[in-house]
Amino acid sequence: MTPRSYELLIDGRWTKARSGETIERVSPAHGVTVSTYSKASEHEADLAISAARAAFDRGSWPRMSGSERSKVLLNVASLIERDAELLAMLDTLESGKPIAQARGEIAGAADIWRYAAALTRDLHGESFSTIGPHKLGVVVRDPIGVVSIITPWNFPFLIVSQKLPFALAAGCTAVVKPSELTSASTLYLGKLLLEAGLPAGVVNILSGKGLDVGAVMTSDPRVDMISFTGSTRVGKSAMATAAQTLKKVSMELGGKNPQIIFADADLEAALDAAVFGAYFNAGECCNAGSRLIIQRSIAESFVADLQRKVRDVKVGDPLDEDVRVGAIVTPEHLAKIEGYVADAQEAGAEVKVGGTRLDYESGQFMAPTIVDGVKPQMTIAREEVFGPVLSVLTFETAEEAVVIANGTDYGLSAGVWSRDFNTCLNVSRGIHAGTVWMNTFMDGASELPFGGYKQSGLGRELGRRAVDDYTEEKTLHMHHGPRTAWWVTNPAGQA
Ligand code: NDP
Repeated sequence: MTPRSYELLIDGRWTKARSGETIERVSPAHGVTVSTYSKASEHEADLAISAARAAFDRGSWPRMSGSERSKVLLNVASLIERDAELLAMLDTLESGKPIAQARGEIAGAADIWRYAAALTRDLHGESFSTIGPHKLGVVVRDPIGVVSIITPWNFPFLIVSQKLPFALAAGCTAVVKPSELTSASTLYLGKLLLEAGLPAGVVNILSGKGLDVGAVMTSDPRVDMISFTGSTRVGKSAMATAAQTLKKVSMELGGKNPQIIFADADLEAALDAAVFGAYFNAGECCNAGSRLIIQRSIAESFVADLQRKVRDVKVGDPLDEDVRVGAIVTPEHLAKIEGYVADAQEAGAEVKVGGTRLDYESGQFMAPTIVDGVKPQMTIAREEVFGPVLSVLTFETAEEAVVIANGTDYGLSAGVWSRDFNTCLNVSRGIHAGTVWMNTFMDGASELPFGGYKQSGLGRELGRRAVDDYTEEKTLHMHHGPRTAWWVTNPAGQA
């Protein structure tokens, strides 16, 4: 396989890093180099921010009508669809995710670009005609300015598509840094943006390390907003840096999401969703349903069925159309996942299935794993494992289930399964999470806001108000007619 090479997109031109350094990405499933990117440093971050700043302050993009901007976003959506197979392949080769799944993510991303294009024409403020005679208040929404967009490795193309089209719809300009592990599809997007007619400098894309490029993107005073998706640890540090210049921040961070199964649920459907929730994207998923909380009366038989079901999940080469669980992103990450399982065993939990790496010739794979007998205070029940590892806990009453579900620092998403809709609604309303699925899991739609409570994040992406997040409100307070409240003297001598 010949590796593809990528340069940096700065001010509409493809540019090599001044240092001449590159980053090589080895496919986690195949053990061969699949991409080489030019490695940006502080110097290129500075150039990219200058270009985005100039495009915002003096360029055409923020000044275009919504209709003109929406045409460009629609072009991007069509180009994504045209090159969907290539984009899916890039994400699969770099992240290790199954190709069939990657295709779904690219299609979902194109849908988001179209949705953002529609919102472009509906960006509006408010007016107030009730603030007094001869007075009118109009609140307009201005684009916030230059946005630094920083994304993780697990859903490379989908996550940049949850941010960039909305920032562009608002009229912002951007500097984008994908993860150094999975930059290819985002760099390829740069080519599509230019082809779609986006003016030079509006979007600049840098492959590079968080510690140097990301640090400039979060500290530079010329940047107005940070839109970050990644771990809670790095998100907190990016926020602390951004606070020095009081930038607006939007944070999509980790999750330790519960799926609560009541005895009266459709157990066949719940079983399938439990397996999907835990092992989709090899569990390297912020939304992973990594804590299964089962009503005690059915726990034993449910876990027995689960073991059978998990053994049927096909693990292996992500280029195989039938594979459901691909490779783990890096050897270091695989070791970390195994460490969590070993730690849980030491704490008294029992591995029912899996628990070990799979000895394939190339790349790194982990067997889908069920850890039973987990207690809420164990590390495995509280921290994000970010691998194909399902922890099983039990509950007696709905109240107890809610307490367990809420018992972590995270609050991204949750699932509730019961045939009694009152149970579903009562439990859902008690859960502290940004999304609660009832009798389904990890469903998504561009129309629905997504984001976390507690340490899972700040702000919401997607949904009708996603564009608003990239704007500042400006109040225009007008008086039409004679001055009514003289402060010093009234020249006409009137009261
Ligand atoms: P990281 O937090 O390690 O990295 C995320 C991004 O931040 C990468 O591009 C990274 O660069 C960059 N970065 C690292 N250090 C800094 C810094 N000091 N300043 C600015 N940027 C920096 O996350 P992962 O890539 O490991 O992704 C996994 C995490 O993402 C999980 O915790 C997961 O839950 C979360 N996530 C959340 C989602 C959500 O919507 N809530 C969705 C998907 C994932 P680099 O690594 O290239 O050096």
